[in-house]
Amino acid sequence: MITIKSSREIEFMKQAGEIVGNTHRYLEKYIQPGITTKELDHLAEEFILKSGATPSFKNLYGFPGCICISINEEVVHGIPGKRKLKNGDIITLDIGACYKGYHGDSAWTYAVGEISKEKEKLMKETEEALFEGLSVIKEGAHLGDIGAAVESYALEHHLGVVKELTGHGIGSSVHEDPDVPNYGTKGTGPVLKAGMTIAVEPMLNLGTADVFILDDDWTIVTADNLPSAHYEHTVLVTKDGYTILTKR
Ligand code: MG
Ligand code: MG
Repeated sequence: MITIKSSREIEFMKQAGEIVGNTHRYLEKYIQPGITTKELDHLAEEFILKSGATPSFKNLYGFPGCICISINEEVVHGIPGKRKLKNGDIITLDIGACYKGYHGDSAWTYAVGEISKEKEKLMKETEEALFEGLSVIKEGAHLGDIGAAVESYALEHHLGVVKELTGHGIGSSVHEDPDVPNYGTKGTGPVLKAGMTIAVEPMLNLGTADVFILDDDWTIVTADNLPSAHYEHTVLVTKDGYTILTKR
């Protein structure tokens, strides 16, 4: 069931989203060669708690970190640990925060130092694909319109669209109905209504769309080891468009 949020619920989700956006801004300046992903995870936890929220992903389905940190060929669900960032890496921080029982969720890919032209292109185009997907959202649009917009942009730019993972409804749970795939057909799927809150999150690969899961049972990586990028916003559907709740 896709829930319609009350104005009170939307207020909490705005606050949760703002905390997520602020956490991204706070962490961005620490993304430098030499820092470990565990250190970034600690900084995120401290910041989220200080903001009066809790990290949504800590222990979610048993996840061992507070935020997901995925480097280069890692698509999603990277576990924070001893790995140090290196010049030329790209790193995705996927951050969730829960405020008064409501969640915000946003992922963003960042460059570490100087990166290759290919990685730069991948990042720019994946961010663009997110906004292509968002651009079709308004009351009366179909869910399939979002995936169709993301997919056609991605294919036009010769990027691999990860299909095993999707965006999602979000509210008092991080993951609610509906699934929001990054592929689809215009005019199909549920009709969007004002008051729905969804997370749109293209995960696009420089090479093949195929992915597999590492032995840690969490980290999803590209099958050809080429880099992947991931951009996500939590948004509120409105009468004539959408409002980004996780603005940075
Ligand atoms: Mg996320
Ligand atoms: Mg999400």
